[in-house]
Amino acid sequence: MQLKGKTAVITGSNSGIGLGVARELARAGANVVLNSFTDRDEDHAIAREIADTFGVTARYIKADLSKADEARALVEQAGACDILVNNAGIQHVAPVDEFPTEKWDAIIAINLSSAFHTTAVALPMMRKAGWGRIVNIASAHGLTASPYKSAYIAAKHGIVGLSKTVGLETAREPITCNAICPGYVLTPLVEAQIPDTAKKYDMSEDEVKQKVILERQPSKEFATVEQVGGTAVFLCSDAAAQITGTTISVDGGWTAL
Ligand code: NAD
Repeated sequence: MQLKGKTAVITGSNSGIGLGVARELARAGANVVLNSFTDRDEDHAIAREIADTFGVTARYIKADLSKADEARALVEQAGACDILVNNAGIQHVAPVDEFPTEKWDAIIAINLSSAFHTTAVALPMMRKAGWGRIVNIASAHGLTASPYKSAYIAAKHGIVGLSKTVGLETAREPITCNAICPGYVLTPLVEAQIPDTAKKYDMSEDEVKQKVILERQPSKEFATVEQVGGTAVFLCSDAAAQITGTTISVDGGWTAL
């Protein structure tokens, strides 16, 4: 229970990696604030389930992170923010010359700019508390590129740069800022791409997972949300106090190639 008494705000945490990170932080004793842009009963039910399972405080705050004022209001409404995990993200795949401008703008706003806004509000709160951890969920695509994902790759390279900059700006304070760069994790974001790819290449969905998605991941296994969450808990631990302004890959060897 190393994070007992700390409050963690995790953006985009009603599914996938964000939810996995929230659960691992709660398992380590942190109170958690969950978020997405919806306001459904099931969003609040997820928070109640985490509170009951781990004996922490958990609540859900709706905020559409494509909007600067809502990103800022999320952290303000949380009231405390010792740990900030910028995780919300969307994806769109198209060649640069056919990439819809509104998709570019949405990806940059949600995957990158929202982290700037939440960080700007969270830092003074961390300074007041005398301790803080910022963990940005970037991607192997924040360190490497691949075709047809221009906005996603630009945003993920951007969040790696933001993490380094904030790490330097807070280097003399008891605050750290780092990026986790996962390889492929089987979440709704990835699962949504499987049926179309299977049709396109006339493959089964299992073949798409092994031969297309995991092609660049030497372990040939998906990383899990628990593994990404465990890495976030480590970055919040005392052992990681001197780790700042850097990236940690959870990618089965992808970026070693
Ligand atoms: P996901 O679709 O399960 O999760 C995305 C989360 O972002 C959801 O909670 C969604 O509601 C939220 N979100 C989307 N638009 C939002 C908005 N406007 N306002 C607030 N929240 C919004 O997908 P995931 O795979 O869990 O992705 C989480 C993060 O991990 C993303 O930043 C993604 O780029 C990154 N990532 C994923 C993988 C992977 O293989 N799944 C690999 C590397 C990095």
